[in-house]
Amino acid sequence: MSGSYLSSITILAMCSTCIGSEEYGHFAQVFDEMLDGYLENAAKGVRADYDPYSKTVCLLHEKWNRFDGGAPLVACGICRNDLSVDTEGRLFPCHRFVGLGKFCVGSVQEGVKTDRVREIYLDYQGVRLRTCGDCWARNLCSGPCPWHIANDDGTFDAPEIERCESTRLQMRRAMWLYAELRDRHTAFLAKVLGCKEDDLRPAGTQVSTANR
Ligand code: SF4
Repeated sequence: MSGSYLSSITILAMCSTCIGSEEYGHFAQVFDEMLDGYLENAAKGVRADYDPYSKTVCLLHEKWNRFDGGAPLVACGICRNDLSVDTEGRLFPCHRFVGLGKFCVGSVQEGVKTDRVREIYLDYQGVRLRTCGDCWARNLCSGPCPWHIANDDGTFDAPEIERCESTRLQMRRAMWLYAELRDRHTAFLAKVLGCKEDDLRPAGTQVSTANR
């Protein structure tokens, strides 16, 4: 049998072009307002249908309680446990990169081009070291999504300042929320984290470094 069974569709990279200062400002306002609602629900022991905070609260708890709370070299699975194939049989670091020809990392017929994968990692890590090295949130954020900072020519740029500010703001909200829940709604926090109340360490407790 021969012929073409799949056809290509065009997917536009919309994040960096469609979200600007106005939208980030609007997000900030909405997320601030949602904090009060989250605490009201926590007082009743109810989890909201849409909950943009619990995942970050869990992340904070995990980092706070782990001895090796650093960030991974690459937070997502590009080129490691993730590869996507387009309708021509070309391989890309993940589904988001499909259509960005300069990020092609091989083909179904020829396999993965490890040199190109190495280049992608080095380029990405270079941007991350220059951009994230001084950021207080680097071990929580773990760096930008590679696709968000990818250029059409196969290189990477620094992440947008507004996106980073939005990320840090969300981390600060989650930290505040974690402290509020721990002090006022301990049972609810334990439910969110999937642990026992006794397992929550009181405010001001430091992680032991004895086993490092
Ligand atoms: S917020 Fe921005 S600068 Fe900070 S770690 Fe994340 S991507 Fe890097």
